[in-house]
Amino acid sequence: MRKLITMALAAIFMTGNAFGAMHFVHLKAKTDIERSKIANIIHIDQVIEDSIYAVVNEDDLKELKKEIGYLLIETHVYVPKGPKNNSEEIEFPKKDEKYHTYKETMDVLDEMARKYPKIVTSLSLGTSVEGRELKGLRITGPRNLKSDAFIPGIFFVGAHHAREHLSTEVPLLLLKYLLENYGTDQRITDLVNGRDIYFVPMLNPDGAMHDIKGRKYKMWRKNRIENSKGSFGVDLNRNYSYGWGTGGSSRRETSDVFMGPKPFSEPETQAVKKFVEEHANIRIILSFHTFSELILYPWGGKKDGVSGKDGQVFTKMAETMSKWNKYKPMQASGLYVATGDTCDWAYGEHGIFCFTFELSPKSRWRGGFYPGAKVIEPAFQANILPALYLIDKAADPYGVLKK
Ligand SMILES: [Zn+2]
Repeated sequence: MRKLITMALAAIFMTGNAFGAMHFVHLKAKTDIERSKIANIIHIDQVIEDSIYAVVNEDDLKELKKEIGYLLIETHVYVPKGPKNNSEEIEFPKKDEKYHTYKETMDVLDEMARKYPKIVTSLSLGTSVEGRELKGLRITGPRNLKSDAFIPGIFFVGAHHAREHLSTEVPLLLLKYLLENYGTDQRITDLVNGRDIYFVPMLNPDGAMHDIKGRKYKMWRKNRIENSKGSFGVDLNRNYSYGWGTGGSSRRETSDVFMGPKPFSEPETQAVKKFVEEHANIRIILSFHTFSELILYPWGGKKDGVSGKDGQVFTKMAETMSKWNKYKPMQASGLYVATGDTCDWAYGEHGIFCFTFELSPKSRWRGGFYPGAKVIEPAFQANILPALYLIDKAADPYGVLKK
């Protein structure tokens, strides 16, 4: 007994998770139906053929055993990387310091706004649960700032999910790239002059900073709202309204895919809703996530494809971009159904062509959510051309269907 208690305490100490240890799980799922059953309980980190891999909390593991124990093949305690200390310091582990904390991200945004005042305006979309400002930038030609003419818009957003830190780095590097090449690179100059380009690199700063607190990773996914029974967090990418709560998300507050008490219950998703609805010129959204190297498009909440011309636009754009970044293009529900994400809402409610990029690495064996700082530069490089393409196509998404 004492040994068990010691082990449990050690697990809590190692993970910093008051709800117990995290567990690596490997499940066998041969069919869509089996995968969808799993997705109703946990977040699926990776699907490879018949196998599903994930890191889950104690409560999720219990639920998996209770509901679909027959699919479980392997579980073991997951030990996160990082020093064993209890410091409250908000900084990445030493070897990953190249990643930006919330403060460092905001500093970059402020610096860019100071350095390029003619083409940059600061945006504030709202505040997170813990009161962090959800900041972004608008990048557009100097004339557009004074004009009322219609300018096609595109919105890049990162870090809905806390542990997906690379999804902040890529939009941050992209916005710097646009600004640094404006005025010298003709293509970029023309694109900036002709578009409203909005960037919000860190939508879930509370979760992201919780995930690195004490310089050790915690595999945190959700935001940091306190739920009714003392657990924390709603999965922001299950909290959008379109098809909310109809599959691939959970009503259990402790679940990593907890959908929230109602659609748009969270200040972070409310901020996106308000921003997008106030900027009717937005025609394309790119939401960055990690990992698996995929280009995903609606529907995520159902197996049917988007019909008609719109469906062709999605597939054409995704296939074109995949030639540059080598990511696999597919409908989001291709692996398993999940509802309440950004893109089903953006397209379903507003007709916006919305993509989710699952950035590097390709698999959990190459680092999963924590692939290290070495992937930042290649992930950015791989996505320059896809980003420029989307900025270009924001003027006329249907143009991609012309021969
Ligand atoms: Zn994600």
